Amino acid sequence: MKDKLNIVKDEVIPAEKIPVLRISHGCFGKCSYCVIHKSTGKLRSKPIKECIKEYKSLIEKGHKLVRINAEDTGNYGLDMHSSLPELFSEMLKADKGHDVKWIMHTMNPEYALKYKDTMLDLIKKRKIYTLKCEIQSGSNRILNLMNRDYDAKEVLKMFDEFKKTNPRLIAVSQFIVGFPSEKDSDFKDTVSMMEHLNMEYYDIFPYSDMPCSISSKMPDKVPEKTKLERLKFLKTFFENRGYSGFFSDDGLELTKKGYNPC
Ligand code: SF4
Repeated sequence: MKDKLNIVKDEVIPAEKIPVLRISHGCFGKCSYCVIHKSTGKLRSKPIKECIKEYKSLIEKGHKLVRINAEDTGNYGLDMHSSLPELFSEMLKADKGHDVKWIMHTMNPEYALKYKDTMLDLIKKRKIYTLKCEIQSGSNRILNLMNRDYDAKEVLKMFDEFKKTNPRLIAVSQFIVGFPSEKDSDFKDTVSMMEHLNMEYYDIFPYSDMPCSISSKMPDKVPEKTKLERLKFLKTFFENRGYSGFFSDDGLELTKKGYNPC
């Protein structure tokens, strides 16, 4: 996703000035369309002490907004008997008295569901300022084929709770259009989900085979023409609902008017 501007209070902060706290490398996931977990290797979480040291140094430099990043932030600690909530708790202790906000970048909804109570608490306090959670499809049939381990309705319910607890949460997601065997009915499920979620920003990618991925060997590929029609439909559909749509080299970006996602 392209980095734009972020607004904390009345201050506009250019995205490139927001520091990144990288908490792990690699991924525990097994998504059928992805080869990142193969190319980046096994999950390697940064020890909590090291994360806190880096975080404190960002606080000392006066940063008010920190981007927490990883291939999947939800994976944090799974390789060392720790967890993301444990890291959050140490970060909260470290920034007492400083109003630092977090941009949670790339979290598989599976982990947002797993740690829902912690997430709700941090969203309520507006500690989590932006949450980027890649949902990928509104159809459970397609999510199963993607090896994404969650239920679309559960994710929808969770985001309803997040938004209810803090309507100012900036919610961001990513969807894939035209995954192998995606039917009109699956696509409709995705459109309904996106409409219901009413997030501030969506990245939509037309499916393409990653060499050696599991999905590249799946039958029933969706024709390019259908993928393009679905993307065009989404652009018009969401432009009629207060979004601005933009075709980039990678796919379609939909931004709710008045927002500067990060
Ligand atoms: S969670 Fe993300 S990085 Fe990990 S396998 Fe799935 S798509 Fe790839």
